[in-house]
Amino acid sequence: MSAASTDSAVPTNSAARVKSVWDEVVGQEVAIAPLRAAVADSGAMTHAWIITGPPGSGRSYAARAFAAALQCLEGGCGTCRACTTSLSGAHADVTLLATEKVTISIDEVRDLIATAQSSPSEGRWRVMVIEDADRMTERTSNVLLKSIEEPPPRTVWLLCAPSAEDVAVTIRSRSRHVRLRVPDPEVVAQLLVSQDGVEPELARQCAYASQSHIGIARRLARDPAARGRRDQVLALATEIRGVGDAVLAAADLVAVAEADAKASTEERDVEERNELLRTLGADDGGRLPPALRSQVKQLEEDQKRRATRLKRDVLDRAIVDLMSLYRDVACLQVGATVPLVNESHRGHVEGLAGRGTLADTMRCLDALAQTRDRLAGNVAPVLALEAMALALRPRTAS
Ligand SMILES: [Zn+2]
Repeated sequence: MSAASTDSAVPTNSAARVKSVWDEVVGQEVAIAPLRAAVADSGAMTHAWIITGPPGSGRSYAARAFAAALQCLEGGCGTCRACTTSLSGAHADVTLLATEKVTISIDEVRDLIATAQSSPSEGRWRVMVIEDADRMTERTSNVLLKSIEEPPPRTVWLLCAPSAEDVAVTIRSRSRHVRLRVPDPEVVAQLLVSQDGVEPELARQCAYASQSHIGIARRLARDPAARGRRDQVLALATEIRGVGDAVLAAADLVAVAEADAKASTEERDVEERNELLRTLGADDGGRLPPALRSQVKQLEEDQKRRATRLKRDVLDRAIVDLMSLYRDVACLQVGATVPLVNESHRGHVEGLAGRGTLADTMRCLDALAQTRDRLAGNVAPVLALEAMALALRPRTAS
C-alpha cells in the first residue's frame, strides 16, 4: 500500500501535516518498523505478535494503532471510520481484551479463540488484541497456543506485555517480537505540544515529571490539580522532621492517593454507567426495571475493584515521584550535569542536596524501594508509608 509512504518525517506545519494512527506512537520509529512493513505488504505479515515495553511506553496503543492500520484502506489515516473504531475497540473485526483483574480467565481466552476462528466481517483482517498477556496462567497460555499455531488465514493475534519473558515461551517462539522502549522525554513533550496543544514549557515539565510515561504526562498537562497533588507528594520530603511529621505525612499521602484515584475514575465511572444504561435502553432517566439492576450492580462492583487497584497504583506512582526527587538530589550531590526530572523543583532539590550526604540520599532511595515492595506485597498502605516517612527523616534534624 503506497499511501502510507506519504507521511514522512517530522511535520513542519501541524495544520498541513498528514495525520496517521502512528502519530501517537512517539519515539518508537525503529521498533514499529516491522508493523508498518506488515501493513504495507501482506507478505511481511505474521499471525502472532508480541508487543512489549515498560508502563507508559504505549504498547496497548501501538497494538490498537496496528489494528487500525490493518483495517484502514489508507494504511492508518487516523480519521476514517475503520481507524477510529479500531482505536476505540468498537470495530467489528477488532477484539480487545483488557483486564482490570489479576489474571485473565481461561473462559475469556476460549471466547477469544472462538471469535478468532471466524473470517473478518467487514475489515481486511480479524485482529485479536490481548492487552495484558502477562496475566495468563500456563494453562490458559496453552489453550491460546493452539489457536496461534494454526490460525485462520485472516486472523492476527497481538499480545501486549511488559517484557517477552512474561509470555509463555511456547507462544513466544511462534510470535514476532516488537520491543518498545522508554521514549525520550523531549519526544513526549513534543507529542503534548503537537497533539494536545500544550504550551511547550509546561509540556516539557510534565514529560520529565512523568519520566516519559505518556498517559501520566498527559494527565499532568491537562489537570492542574494532578500537578498540585504531585507537588504535595514531593513537598513531603522536606516537611518531615520528626516522628509526628512522619505519621502525619503518611496519612496525607494516603489521602492524596485517594483523591487522585477518585479524580481519575469518577468521570469514567459515570460514562460507563450511562453507556450501560443506554445499551439497556434505560437512559431516559426513568426507574430501572428489576431485571436490569443486577447488571448495573455488577458494573458498580467492577468499578469498586478498579478503584482499589488504582489507589494502589497511585501510591506506587507517588513513591516513584519521590524516588525521582532523590535521584535528582543524588545527581546534584555527585555533580552530574544531566537534566533533572524535577527541574521545576530545583530549589527544593538543592535544599535536600545540601542537607545530607550522598549516603543519606541512597538510604532514602532504599527505603522508598522497600516501600514499593511492601505495598506490592499487600502491607496496609498507612503502615508501609509511616515506615517510609520515618526513614526519610533527616539524620541530624536541624
Ligand atoms: Zn483510516
